[in-house]
Amino acid sequence: MTFETLGLAPALLRALDEQGYTQPTPIQEQAIPLALEGHDLLAGAQTGTGKTAAFGLPLIQYLATTPQEVQRGAPRRPRALVLTPTRELAVQVHDSLRGYGKYLRIPSTTIYGGVGMGNQLDALRRGVDLVIACPGRLIDHLERRSVDLSGIEILVLDEADRMLDMGFLPSIKRILAKLPKQNRQTMLFSATFADPIRELALEFMREPKQIQVTPRNTVAETITHRVHPVDGSRKRDLLLHLLAQDSRLQTLVFARTKHGSDKLATFLEKSGIKTAAIHGNKSQGARQRALSDFKAGRINVLVATDIAARGIDIDQLPQVINFDLPMVAEDYVHRIGRTGRNGSTGQAISLVAQDEAKYLRAIVRLLNRDMDLRDVPGFEPQTPIRWGNSAPGKAELPGGERTPRRNGPQKHARRPHGDAPRHAHAGPKKHGGQRRDGGRSGGARQGQSRPAR
Ligand code: AMP
Repeated sequence: MTFETLGLAPALLRALDEQGYTQPTPIQEQAIPLALEGHDLLAGAQTGTGKTAAFGLPLIQYLATTPQEVQRGAPRRPRALVLTPTRELAVQVHDSLRGYGKYLRIPSTTIYGGVGMGNQLDALRRGVDLVIACPGRLIDHLERRSVDLSGIEILVLDEADRMLDMGFLPSIKRILAKLPKQNRQTMLFSATFADPIRELALEFMREPKQIQVTPRNTVAETITHRVHPVDGSRKRDLLLHLLAQDSRLQTLVFARTKHGSDKLATFLEKSGIKTAAIHGNKSQGARQRALSDFKAGRINVLVATDIAARGIDIDQLPQVINFDLPMVAEDYVHRIGRTGRNGSTGQAISLVAQDEAKYLRAIVRLLNRDMDLRDVPGFEPQTPIRWGNSAPGKAELPGGERTPRRNGPQKHARRPHGDAPRHAHAGPKKHGGQRRDGGRSGGARQGQSRPAR
């Protein structure tokens, strides 16, 4: 399948070719023809699947080839609206769409909070066809009557599940009420489809075609998951120890709170690791700068909260470290969805204190797979993780045979750099620790491992 056979215009094909897109991704193969035919779409796809081009290419093609019906003398009104949960995603979608449409003239703007109104008002006054907006600030503009949504022909809800998680449902409904009911195409993209999303779709979409590319809650098979039990008070030192193994390895570190991520970033920076933090309290400029510094390799570690990191698109990110485990298991999937993309290998490391065992259990249950549980010598927890009834190593869930550690015949964990054998809480026959990353983390001194189930 090629982009040409999907029915895209030559100007788009040229831009795609320049960006090195040779083949459509599965979500693009499914979505583009349906969207070009004008169907409403309910698409299950997460970040990293190519979903932006899946809705963006047909959207641009429509705007470029279908003339707007304008009344004489009436001001130009936006024709397409993309709603995103975060500013970062809005900027990212805007950049992608501008790239795809570089040989077409589609005036566009982003609208999000945390920055002044001036530029947004100017752009809206000049007139744009395409608006990429976060719901909160768009409502501000609606209240000030600085945007007129009565001419919207295409609406995209990007990462709808996250918008609902963030409490945007009332805002979305207010925005939807301002859009034309007739002759509107609606595309909803979401990683998950809980009831409120289905209800929203039923209420506002016309016989949507449903497509799905990644089954819910799956993660790339190329990712190695590793858990290091550690006392909460020693997590910072352990993190530093792991990062110091290869200080050039680009690593996204997740912390649960804004304050926690700031403190952690300051600690790492003081310890000589080039680090920045990104979360909702940072100014838009600071967040953008941190992201581009990270992408360019000027900093090696980005500490992020779940919400700030949503939609961050970094190709080939080799390592994600959960400094804190997410309280919602599905966030684990979102977090590590940034590594192991497009068949590349990646590792997800979680530092787990005793009071986080419940979150780990929920994640293991959700992923339905084993995780490699290893003490790091020198950081063994004083308080071991308590498993309640589900002792590690006990086969209580199906699917455990897929664990990568059991691919090989070896009986013992490989201990790089001659770690002294130490007693581990290993379950019977459950040794392992074979590294699938070719030793990229530079020989972290690992203890023996046991599976978390
Ligand atoms: P998305 O899921 O839209 O965030 O896209 C993830 C990444 O894949 C982005 O860096 C895109 O530029 C890239 N991408 C999207 N579609 C393709 C494609 N057909 N070929 C190569 N890269 C792509």
